Amino acid sequence: MEFVTEADLLAPSLAIVVPCYNEEEVIADTTAELLKTLENLASEGRISATSKIYYVDDGSRDATWSMLEKIARDDNRVVAVALSRNRGHQNALYAGLSQTQEDMVVSIDADLQDGPENITAMVDAFRAGFEVVFGVREERGTDTWFKRMTAEGYYRLMQRLGVDLVFNHADFRLMSRRAVDTLLEYPETNLFLRGMVRELGFRSTTVAYARRPRMAGESKYPLRRMLSLAWRGVTAFSIAPLRAITLLGLVSGGLALGLIAWVLFVKVFSSSAVPGWASIMVPVLFIGSVQLLCLGVIGEYLGKIYEEVKRRPRFHLREVVGADPVSDVGTG
Ligand code: UDP
Ligand code: MG
Repeated sequence: MEFVTEADLLAPSLAIVVPCYNEEEVIADTTAELLKTLENLASEGRISATSKIYYVDDGSRDATWSMLEKIARDDNRVVAVALSRNRGHQNALYAGLSQTQEDMVVSIDADLQDGPENITAMVDAFRAGFEVVFGVREERGTDTWFKRMTAEGYYRLMQRLGVDLVFNHADFRLMSRRAVDTLLEYPETNLFLRGMVRELGFRSTTVAYARRPRMAGESKYPLRRMLSLAWRGVTAFSIAPLRAITLLGLVSGGLALGLIAWVLFVKVFSSSAVPGWASIMVPVLFIGSVQLLCLGVIGEYLGKIYEEVKRRPRFHLREVVGADPVSDVGTG
């Protein structure tokens, strides 16, 4: 790969972004496999020989950084960046995306559970005109029953909440330069990239693959982190939980009305009512449901404020015909 020929330059360049947190056990194998992938794709003329791997060390406490640093010094196809401290997978990935300049960017986990051989199909989809190619896990054979069930339930829940997600897509995907640049215009701090990439729009497709087991080391996503990512997905993309308060207020209001009628009926038409009972029950039921309704109204405004402070772009242009584009994002 000494010479960069003209044909190489015509093929799109590829960046592979790999967030790493305490991955010393896999770095060597991962690097070898990813470089091999780049070489193969380049020799097939699918990508240019200027393609690169971008490692992001997410504040690892083991030898990850010293390994990455050495690899990047020795091989000009590898770039290594280190975050000042552990910021979590999504932030590390975002940081990596922000460093790239290539025409296509693939994000992949350091343990290569999402096999790099699938990048070929992703690149082909890009060359066929798709700007986002989602890797979709075809079967979850390597997952525990618990993880499969919770994942399934989660995607269904998100669908009910009106959040547009690609089923069984984690963060293994290809994005065009334009899609990456557009994504980087989203100023929000609570990243849920798989949801944000859906927000972008652009022509997208999927590539199905079977996930491998982790080759070494352990999962950096224990249950606690999984739940936190899942909850972030809900709260960053849906204000439905706030709206549920209003609904709850309406339901409890209806119930309260019925109960109040019953309390009054018992008080007026029977002799068994305890003195003071009705005068306590009626206000308690009434005020309880009024409070819930008021909270719901506040929730509606809170939701609006939340959407506003995220300052997400209003639109992205896909194409302009017959005019110079003024700006390709909807802020301003
Ligand atoms: N990761 C990271 N920062 C973290 C946790 C994880 O950069 O705080 C990286 C990790 O090194 C890996 C990817 O995120 O490259 C996915 O983690 P892992 O493979 O452990 O997750 P799983 O496949 O078990 O869901
Ligand atoms: Mg993994």
